[in-house]
Amino acid sequence: ANGPQKRYSITLLPGDGIGPEVISVAKDVLKLTGSLEGIEFNFQEMPMGGSALDLVGVPLPDETLAAAKNSDAVLLGAIGGYKWDNNAKHLKPETGLLQIREGLKVFANLRPATVLPQLVEASTLKREVAEGVDVMVVRELTGGIYFGKPRGFRTDENGEEVGFNTEVYAAYEIDRIARVAFETARKRQGRLCSVDKANVLEASMLWRRRVTAIAEEYPDVELSHMYVDNAAMQLVRNPKQFDTIVTNNIFGDILSDEASMITGSIGMLPSASLGSSGPGLFEPIHGSAPDIAGQDKANPLATILSAAMLLKYGLEEEDAARRIENAVLDTLNKGLRTGDIYSTGTKLVGCKEMGEAVLRSVDSQV
Ligand code: ATP
Ligand code: MG
Repeated sequence: ANGPQKRYSITLLPGDGIGPEVISVAKDVLKLTGSLEGIEFNFQEMPMGGSALDLVGVPLPDETLAAAKNSDAVLLGAIGGYKWDNNAKHLKPETGLLQIREGLKVFANLRPATVLPQLVEASTLKREVAEGVDVMVVRELTGGIYFGKPRGFRTDENGEEVGFNTEVYAAYEIDRIARVAFETARKRQGRLCSVDKANVLEASMLWRRRVTAIAEEYPDVELSHMYVDNAAMQLVRNPKQFDTIVTNNIFGDILSDEASMITGSIGMLPSASLGSSGPGLFEPIHGSAPDIAGQDKANPLATILSAAMLLKYGLEEEDAARRIENAVLDTLNKGLRTGDIYSTGTKLVGCKEMGEAVLRSVDSQV
């Protein structure tokens, strides 16, 4: 590549289980891609999750959060495992995840659900429905009913126990997630569908009004609206109609899981969590998979694709991101498969061999 050398510092959080295996592969892929695209990465590896608990007694050490905040982007492997399942709540590895999201102030969670042509058979949908699906769900992550107050339990006037929650969204919270979603749609097919329940819920009525207002800043993006019940149905009936979806915390929780199941390949799916400024957090959607940890069986592609999202959405390095995405497709085209995506007629490989094949494809692109 031409032009001056660009430099970025990346915090790597390998975490637990298969985390270190997949992060090691993704790091090599980033390094090689950078060297071919005029980018120099400065990697700093920090402890987090169960391994940090064992080491220093907390799931997110202060030094780890400080390093993450001071870097340009954060790549996380996976957190948790059987070993810590019976820990007290504040000593659970997963607490570290909530803390780092809070610490980095990432309020937008991006989860693509892409049915790759080589893996159409893995989809839970019929071939003609699954083929070509490429949806991005942008979920609001730090507001809404999961955080709204008042919340709790009380006893009503009949002595009946009552549980209650409140959905609260301020205009600024909707505006900022809407902007991330419009920017995201702009880097994709330029179509954004905002999902709400504006026929019933006030928080959704404000949501629709604000998203519509923000749309004026993005005349190049085509905006539509859909009620969540219909969206849930349309996602399995005809997912190809969607490009980018933006929705609130609870609807996004449900719809992003629904969308990912369409692909049928948990080992293939990346994610990004973004704030208004500061480093984004990039991680595969799968967990630490303790059942296969340390056996060189993990599929590293979800983490490699998370590294591609890091380049595209975190650093605006779209050429480098495309190089990685193409390398993943090329490797699948050559028939290489880890166990989770294996089918007859393909070649079963381990985590390392898959990583080496991706490196060769990164290298061999013009
Ligand atoms: P979480 O830790 O997010 O709560 P979980 O523990 O239910 O989720 P995972 O750790 O993602 O789930 O594992 C679910 C199943 O998928 C396991 O059988 C695991 O081996 C498999 N799996 C997950 N990720 C991968 C991967 N990258 N490669 C191969 N298999 C995987
Ligand atoms: Mg798990």
